[in-house]
Amino acid sequence: MKVLKFGGTSVGSVESINGLLEILKQQYAQGEKPIVVLSAMSGVTNLLTQMAEDAEKGISFNAALKELESKHFAVVKQLIQIKNQNPVFTQLKIFLNELEDLLQGVLNLRELSLQSKDLVVSYGERCSAFLISKIAEQYFPESLFVEASLLIKTDSNFGNARVDLQKSELLIRQFIQEHNHHFLFVTGFIASNDSGRVTTLGRGGSDYTAAIFGAALQAEAIEIWTDVDGMLTADPRMVKKAFPLPILSYTEAMELSYFGAKVIYPPTMIPAFMKKVPIIIKNTFNPSFPGTVIQYDSGKTKFPIKGISSINAISVINLSGSGMIGKAGFSGRLFSLLARKQINVVLITQSSSEHSITFAVHPADALRAKLLIETEFELELLAKKLEAPVIEEELSVLAIVGENMKQTPGMSGKLFHALGRNGINVRAIAQGSSEYNISVIISHEDLSKALNAVHDAFFTALKKTLHVFSLGTGNIGSTLFRQLLEQQDFLRDHNDIQIKIIGISNSRQMLFNGEGITLDSWQEELANKGEPANLEQFISRMQKLNLPNCVFVDNTASTEPTKHYLKIFESNISVVTCNKIANSSSYEQYKRLRDTARKHGVDFYYETNVGAGLPIVRTLKDLMTSGDRIIRIEAILSGTISYIFNNFNGDTSFYDVVKSAQALGYTEPDPRDDLRGTDFMRKMLILARDGGHTIEAEEVKLGAILPEACLSAPSVEEFYQELKNADSYFNNLKEKAKLENKAIRYIGKMEDGQVSIALELVGEEHPFYNLSGSDNIISFTTERYKDRPLVVKGPGAGSEVTAGGVFADLVNVGA
Ligand code: ASP
Ligand code: MG
Repeated sequence: MKVLKFGGTSVGSVESINGLLEILKQQYAQGEKPIVVLSAMSGVTNLLTQMAEDAEKGISFNAALKELESKHFAVVKQLIQIKNQNPVFTQLKIFLNELEDLLQGVLNLRELSLQSKDLVVSYGERCSAFLISKIAEQYFPESLFVEASLLIKTDSNFGNARVDLQKSELLIRQFIQEHNHHFLFVTGFIASNDSGRVTTLGRGGSDYTAAIFGAALQAEAIEIWTDVDGMLTADPRMVKKAFPLPILSYTEAMELSYFGAKVIYPPTMIPAFMKKVPIIIKNTFNPSFPGTVIQYDSGKTKFPIKGISSINAISVINLSGSGMIGKAGFSGRLFSLLARKQINVVLITQSSSEHSITFAVHPADALRAKLLIETEFELELLAKKLEAPVIEEELSVLAIVGENMKQTPGMSGKLFHALGRNGINVRAIAQGSSEYNISVIISHEDLSKALNAVHDAFFTALKKTLHVFSLGTGNIGSTLFRQLLEQQDFLRDHNDIQIKIIGISNSRQMLFNGEGITLDSWQEELANKGEPANLEQFISRMQKLNLPNCVFVDNTASTEPTKHYLKIFESNISVVTCNKIANSSSYEQYKRLRDTARKHGVDFYYETNVGAGLPIVRTLKDLMTSGDRIIRIEAILSGTISYIFNNFNGDTSFYDVVKSAQALGYTEPDPRDDLRGTDFMRKMLILARDGGHTIEAEEVKLGAILPEACLSAPSVEEFYQELKNADSYFNNLKEKAKLENKAIRYIGKMEDGQVSIALELVGEEHPFYNLSGSDNIISFTTERYKDRPLVVKGPGAGSEVTAGGVFADLVNVGA
């Protein structure tokens, strides 16, 4: 025998009632005649409560009564054959008339007791259970409507009555015995006290009714049919990746349902637990889904925890003072005081120094608790043995739950790592010694971010989701988006990484999408739905969204964004950039950026600052962290200059080479911007700093390529004129190189903390002699690579390789 309970939405419309019938027909066909427990139609309990409260204030309830009538009548008209409708209408009308008389009494007296209120709301379950029994009767003639108020006995705590399980079970068993040939449709939620007055079991109490029946009859299962696929790993309104749990123990379900996941009424677990009757959560709207089984043991699952529960709003009260130290009975006095006054304590922590106790209560109780404490401990407060209690508000509780956490080390480490990495401050912590719940109190504004970060950390189907805000949509930015689009499936399947672009901005427009901007149509979206660009706002929106694993990508070459890096790090957001400006301005800034990123546990990656996608910055870092010592670095890090000297041979003049380089797009509009060597200098500066040297730009010895007259020419045109005039200077250089069988190279060097860049002639034996196109090359001579240096060589410019480098940095964030 099974007990099936259908919740408000499962009886809330014609379609859902049809679904319910299908489920019953199937079970019936298999020879089952389950006991069916029903909630009021969705919205009805709220409506009845409202009507009662209105009546007490003298407000008319007539319109609401009409609404109730038509809600039920509409179902009759559609689901009961015309010839059978009359008696159903009549009985519903009788219920509604009784209800009307009752409410009229309330209205006349302007008085609503909890007792009357229970009687009023009881009509919700009565109407729905009666109605469903009549619909069912058309298929199962032995259907019978049962008022559970006759069978479930409680105390007189109206509104939330305590069940006398023994008495109720006896009555239920007796009743079932006498009606074992019937198909029973039972009202949920309602019961009665010793004198026969109707009571209710608390909001959501129909689940409890089902469990009481299930336990009394030692049912094979209690099926709770609702409108979701089961209990989820976390609150789906906040965690998009939450998924249904196949198996839970009673304890775990209790923990998860107390905290937010309103799938099942927590007291339901008690009778089921006592008789070891499994509870199965099923979805009326997706009946083939297996749902969640709640049973005696927790079962083996692939994740170390079962779920993450949360309480949105909580207040914390802090009590401290010397009067508590070593004083047995202090907490006893405190908590029995709160218990006497019906203040529910959600969580308690006490430091082992016994100097303070922190406990959490629902916000509505906080002030009352504080006042009670102040009265109770007046003497201690006067004597300064206790500090005045302090209330902290706008907090939330997050708890990881699971019996398998027991004796599994590392669970709290994982939890706190996920919180810490995302800059979430933990205000208080509690873990029961039963080890199936670790709770933390955090600020309410961090709750959603914390839930998502912790969910990612424990349910590792996806190792991480990065939330990216990307600045710049030029060559590099747009190439990056294309590469991400092409690679996203691979990343998900092979690296368990998901990269979502939440914000895009260029200098004209910006666009946000919390779900991730679709990368095959970002241009159109930015153009059609974009807002006017505003860097300050772009950044503050990013900060406000407060997403876990957040990355700011700067694909610009402007100074403006770099001014914000510090505060971005301070909001626990990582930065990935190809922009060199931040790293190559003052050393102080360079240092502060790193210190801040480290302090906040976030990453700052800029591989593409040097040699585009070539692994140069990373190689240097790896050498240093692994304990190697850098003796010397030599490098050619300007693709443009490299191209020019690689092609400066034969009969061509220097002038011709520069001209053709410009025509091919290898130079800046003013080629001197490349030939001055400042960009190269910046790269050397960054390498030197990463190599551990405190150095400023002015300290780099920058040898000139161009004669003074070329450098000081007022326009690009005049520059080219001067370049022609300098023909003999460059020709001499070329002749000299040819004679000595050498190549002209513009080489950066770092040795003994000195950095210089100069024109040099290198012979065949030199690794830089053979270089083609616009290649970059760098050689590291180190303690380990002393005889033959470690050399990295390849294309050091271009949007494909630069975007690829930014991409690789991005994937490494949080690794
Ligand atoms: N109808 C009651 C309520 O809404 C009981 C239930 O649905 O479980 O709280
Ligand atoms: Mg309910």
